[in-house]
Amino acid sequence: MVRFGNKDLARYPFLREALSYVTKYDFRLEDLDNSEFHHLVKKAERKIEQYVFNGKLEYQIDYNKTHEIIVQEEVIIFLISLLIIKAISIDAVTKKFALMESMRFEKYLIEDLDISNQDDKTIKFILYKIFEDLFKTKIDLEVNIYNFYKIKINDYLDHPIAFHEREWNLVNRTVNSGYVYLDGSEIVRLFRNELNLLIIERIKKMTPERIPYLISAISHSMRVNWEKLYPPLRINPHNAVTPPCIQHIYDQIDKGENLPHPARVLLGTFLIYSNKSIEEMLELFKRLPDYNEQITRYQLEHLAGKRGNPKKYYVPSCEKIKLSNLCFETKICRGINNPIQLVSRKNN
Ligand code: SF4
Repeated sequence: MVRFGNKDLARYPFLREALSYVTKYDFRLEDLDNSEFHHLVKKAERKIEQYVFNGKLEYQIDYNKTHEIIVQEEVIIFLISLLIIKAISIDAVTKKFALMESMRFEKYLIEDLDISNQDDKTIKFILYKIFEDLFKTKIDLEVNIYNFYKIKINDYLDHPIAFHEREWNLVNRTVNSGYVYLDGSEIVRLFRNELNLLIIERIKKMTPERIPYLISAISHSMRVNWEKLYPPLRINPHNAVTPPCIQHIYDQIDKGENLPHPARVLLGTFLIYSNKSIEEMLELFKRLPDYNEQITRYQLEHLAGKRGNPKKYYVPSCEKIKLSNLCFETKICRGINNPIQLVSRKNN
């Protein structure tokens, strides 16, 4: 049987094998007030701050230690991070953390799938294990094409992305003898959502007997900072009607959900129509877990006709919004064909 190396496990602290590594030393989350763990709590705290408040993936594994210490520390830091997020207990924070943490693991997976050659049995074993144990999908290396993997068509079609995006549609993939062929980064992107959900599930399932004082203090301070930065959305100070499709987008933003591209276009064009400045719109968009100021600014300026082609985009019609599954029609929508027709109405 192929054994895991400690260093490899340090990159994947969510694996059962990694967790058992610390539990065999009788590690308990309740002991985190003990000063011997403070440097790890600090590292987890810094990582969360970078993720949640700065949207940055700067976390580095410290490899200047013995293999055994590296894996133990990485697993403990991972568990501490989940506990802090659990204690903060704000959906939007949980989702942002899960997205950033899953992006970190994605980066490792892509690197490992790309650099692993066909003789590197250890790393292959880890990768196969991740896909089989966590995502219930068997992936195989295609021996005849360097660094290509294959998965059964039925397993491939279990992933919603295979239907939602043209690039992933079967007609645009290489298919042969009942298998779909993908390179390392495509395999990881296919499982992107699962990795994200796995982290959210782990946080939800945590049931510590008590939250250590140090973790309570950190999570309380982060919670206060978050609420200062992102107070509940008050979109409509003048009692004007908010079209239900737009309200639904605001609710999703409040819950920390990411928005599909058509929802971003709808919101952007609607806010531009409502005379919001780019800065005001960025304040709203920055609540999205995958917010990137440069890209969002570019896209909003493009929609407003301030970039490249001076074409200004209009708010899509109700018919188009329905086709994108973004319509949440109520009785106030009767007789209209574009959400902007509701803008001048007042609530009773
Ligand atoms: S009918 Fe139009 S305004 Fe009303 S929710 Fe649907 S898309 Fe929005």
